[in-house]
Amino acid sequence: MKSRSNPGRSLVASIVQQRCPRCREGRLFKESNPYKTGALGAMPEQCPVCGQPFQLEPSFYYGSMYVSYGYTVAIFVAVFILGYGVLGLGIWSVVGILATVLLALGPILFRLSRSTWIHLFVRYEPAKRDGSVSDKGAPTPKI
Ligand SMILES: [Zn+2]
Repeated sequence: MKSRSNPGRSLVASIVQQRCPRCREGRLFKESNPYKTGALGAMPEQCPVCGQPFQLEPSFYYGSMYVSYGYTVAIFVAVFILGYGVLGLGIWSVVGILATVLLALGPILFRLSRSTWIHLFVRYEPAKRDGSVSDKGAPTPKI
């Protein structure tokens, strides 16, 4: 059991470390390595710590494609400015670097997008971290 004085993870740390948005403790994905074949999108049905369902509705994670697009554009712009603007590389060199970087980061961006997406819809409830609240499994929309 965790101490109540533990402030827990920040929102950004919870998203990056892919934790449950409600308790910020339970892992969102079954396998911690996103590059492991066949385990990329495998998520438990609910948080092992607080019981928060991870599939809020059917096809819930389709919306994470918008988040993924945003992250991809941000990486694209950063690599382009660094390669073309700062380092003065040729355009095709920058395109090659971009393709390599985006392919290499694909699994990480996939998970980061899902993590960001669910954090947009589920409110943080630190009291749920120790499992003392009895309404396990109840989804808590932010609205
Ligand atoms: Zn949880």
